[in-house]
Amino acid sequence: MEKINMLINGEWVSGNQWIDVRDPATSDVIAQIVRGNETHVDEAVAAARLALKSKEWKAFKPFERGQLLVELASYVRSHAEELAALESLDVGKPMNQARADVEAAARYFEFYGGIADKVFGDTIPIEENLLNVTLVEPIGVTVHIVPWNYPIQITARSVGAALATGNVVIVKSSEDTPLSTNFLAQWFHEKLPKGVFQHLTGYGAEVGAALSSHKGINQITFTGSVQTGISVMQSAAANIVPVTLELGGKSPNIVFQDADLDRAIPAIVNSITQNAGQTCSAGSRLLVQDTIADELLEQLVVRFGELSIGPASINADVGPIINQKQHERILDILSEASKQGNVLVGGKGVEVRDYENGYYISPTIIEATSHEESYVQEEIFGPVLSVVRFHSVEEAIELANETEYGLVAGVWSKDIDVAHYVAARIEAGQVFINTYGAAGGVQMPFGGYKKSGIGREKSHLAVQNYIQIKNLAIQVKI
Ligand code: NAD
Repeated sequence: MEKINMLINGEWVSGNQWIDVRDPATSDVIAQIVRGNETHVDEAVAAARLALKSKEWKAFKPFERGQLLVELASYVRSHAEELAALESLDVGKPMNQARADVEAAARYFEFYGGIADKVFGDTIPIEENLLNVTLVEPIGVTVHIVPWNYPIQITARSVGAALATGNVVIVKSSEDTPLSTNFLAQWFHEKLPKGVFQHLTGYGAEVGAALSSHKGINQITFTGSVQTGISVMQSAAANIVPVTLELGGKSPNIVFQDADLDRAIPAIVNSITQNAGQTCSAGSRLLVQDTIADELLEQLVVRFGELSIGPASINADVGPIINQKQHERILDILSEASKQGNVLVGGKGVEVRDYENGYYISPTIIEATSHEESYVQEEIFGPVLSVVRFHSVEEAIELANETEYGLVAGVWSKDIDVAHYVAARIEAGQVFINTYGAAGGVQMPFGGYKKSGIGREKSHLAVQNYIQIKNLAIQVKI
């Protein structure tokens, strides 16, 4: 069994205590990670601070940092099958989804590689004898706390932007899914000065919490639950450390009566079943105009019933849930939900033949009697679609905004005036009209309104998370 060491200060560090990493398709142990502790965190932060000031890292010109990331993108592509297999095993996602994740990771490295020598400041006209400019400097030691649902993509998107702008990074991978980060760590170990990229493993409440509250760090990018996001932000606040938070959502697909259902249906199905619904931007609420609700639901029930459920090895449509805890949590929610709403399809756990110990849930649609029901409001993080009917455009907007979240929304209508009117009033960081997801979109800014988070990732805007501006005034004699 593979034992995964941490990468601290250019050394592979093992420990006295190990944590099992399981394949969610079977619950078999596939690897072990070091149970990192506060001492490891102190060592990593100290090494990062030295690396930040080191001649070796400072010697990398912006274009050379860019070249390095582009080289990494091509390395990722040349190992795409191997990486996709690791990601698929670790997360339990079908190979086609894992391949798409690996390609997205390569695109992030490439995109931020391209940006590295195009981040620059301003010249500010004040008076003839005063040259005033802004210098763009790295923010310093950046911490990247990564969840288990899209490990390689989420690591690549923030690490790419941080390294492009000259920072040094410490990645804390999820205790459930360390494999692809460990793969990348080996490349970084060979290519970068020690301490520029470090990988810590262990429990969130131990290593993650120690990192978030450490005085020696300068920025945190966290993706995960609202609850953990709050505690990360509280720890960071004590040291006035800025945070970028991506905390999931309860994103609606809003379907008007004139929608092209042939286009909408595959997108609605995919947006809640991809990665078994464990996607921050999952389309987990369906708001449908009452005049077409019966027709749409009938078709969706058929589609959900046709989806295959099983492990990545048989390339099923819907893979397992990440771990036993999440599986039990979703089953509890479903059991409560079935007392409140009307389960149209699914609604229970599934035993897959030969994979009886895997964590499977059947794709589920529940029609709610009220938008206030808990499963309509809370992020479930499973293949569970809640449905609420609406009558008017205004009611659709009101319902769409009636959760604590605001990450993504989909609007389906052939009337662009209506679609745009709705999109303009939705409280979410990203709205899709007559599409959903738009293939990931490395170039598109991504982040939440309300409790879905703070700041934007992806796109050129993410660079702002990792820089600080110094204003320089030079008096000249003329
Ligand atoms: P979590 O937020 O607890 O974990 C996410 C990451 O944070 C992991 O790497 C974990 O080790 C780390 N972490 C945990 N506690 C920490 C702490 N106190 N300080 C610093 N880091 C810490 O998520 P979870 O418990 O794995 O899942 C619970 C729910 O979170 C899910 O049901 C889902 O709703 C949500 N979630 C959202 C996303 C997303 O993409 N937005 C990803 C994963 C989970």
